[in-house]
Amino acid sequence: MAMSDTVRVRFAPSPTGSFHVGSARTALFNWAFARHHKGVFILRIEDTDSSRSTDEHIVQILDVLRWLGLDWDEGPPTPGYRQTERFDIYRAHGERLLLEGRAYRCRCTREILDALRAAAKARKEQFRYPGTCREAGVPASEPHALRLRMPLAGQTVVEDAILGTVTFDNDTLDDWILVRTDGTPTYNFCVVVDDVTMKITHVIRGNDHLNNTPKQIVCYAALGYATPLFAHIPMILAPDRSKMSKRHGATTIEEFRDQGILPEALVNYLARLGWSHGDDEIFSPKDIAEHFALAQVGKAGAVFDREKLLWVSYEWIRAAAPERLAGALTPFLGPALGPASAASAALFDPARLAAIAASLKERSRTLVEMAEQAVFYFRPPAAYDAQATAKFWGPEAPHRYAVLIKRHQAQEAFDPESLEGLYRGLASEMGLKLVDLAQLTRIAITGKTASPPVFQVAVLLGKAETIARLKAALAAVERAKPPVGAGR
Ligand code: GLU
Repeated sequence: MAMSDTVRVRFAPSPTGSFHVGSARTALFNWAFARHHKGVFILRIEDTDSSRSTDEHIVQILDVLRWLGLDWDEGPPTPGYRQTERFDIYRAHGERLLLEGRAYRCRCTREILDALRAAAKARKEQFRYPGTCREAGVPASEPHALRLRMPLAGQTVVEDAILGTVTFDNDTLDDWILVRTDGTPTYNFCVVVDDVTMKITHVIRGNDHLNNTPKQIVCYAALGYATPLFAHIPMILAPDRSKMSKRHGATTIEEFRDQGILPEALVNYLARLGWSHGDDEIFSPKDIAEHFALAQVGKAGAVFDREKLLWVSYEWIRAAAPERLAGALTPFLGPALGPASAASAALFDPARLAAIAASLKERSRTLVEMAEQAVFYFRPPAAYDAQATAKFWGPEAPHRYAVLIKRHQAQEAFDPESLEGLYRGLASEMGLKLVDLAQLTRIAITGKTASPPVFQVAVLLGKAETIARLKAALAAVERAKPPVGAGR
């Protein structure tokens, strides 16, 4: 490719199933490559397998790409980027290949081919079409498929930007079908015609397609086009180095979204899954676009590491603006609060949600974890942590709670600094450490001994709610108190 040519790459998913991490990473690498080279990123829907392709899956692909922030420059909803809309183009290219003698008509029926296949199997050989019709001059009037005339000897070489030189012996490749007897084009033919007509300069895809590449290279040449540059990305592997699948946990992008991973975090993690840039780990989409290079994509399969994903996710949550987190957190609050939740709408005020998110963002690896930790902001603790009460609910606790309640009632300014002043004064009056009082309050308002800064939590709950929870804790301590005379 000449330096002045614009880079044009494509992500070409088949809408036949859920959107997996492997596909997302392929999309990301194409996007990053295009952005790095100020090129064009094209989305093409490979829906020729009409029995398995669905419109729902197409919608899902567009949704997921948008959620990940992988914006495409050409593609749906503009018409002409679904293969089922392009059958005339494939047929025209097939006819041209026939006219130029690069393809030929084949009248071998399914029965004949099945019998040949069975015979090859019996001989424990790989089936190859024997070229029965290659020189037969089958007339157009007979039902026929169209086959590509492949070289009979020599080698086809793939100069892969990631894998290096990969050589295929031509005598292992047979004259493959371009257009079936029913007039429908085959998958490999559509891919080549699309890549040619869409002027694709670099084909970046999963290495599960490597075996298609020599067939496709011959087809490019037959059509009279230069081959694009190929880059086959190694697979994503499970920790046991097997192919990643359902049994290893989440594999689809929607599952990760539902687990409360921010899209930037997932993009960051997927970028590092096979690609590296020095020792850096945290990359924004902009950083990825700036630094991405195929030369730094590893040849070996990349192992999916859930702990690392959670660490990256934690870093992105920690760095996110509270307002953004509040928006992202909202859909997770309903499930965390449960169906019986009667929390009032005022508790979901955007500014309050942002403050809640800010208080929890250093303590959450996912939005699900954040939502679970946020429950006490919406309703009183359902129970008090047993270890916490064992440690802090001693004989003095009822008195201390009673004092705390009275002082909170008398307290006018209800902000973290004023509350800290109140607790410091009270602690020195009572000859206690600040923490002894603060932990009592923390247990009362959150149910636990670990939470975001207690005065901050109290302020977010408001004075009335804080006092109500102190009173509830006092009642609970009273109930738990051993009867008088039981040896206090
Ligand atoms: N449609 C293929 C897939 O979803 C991609 C083909 C290609 O990139 O050439 O795996």
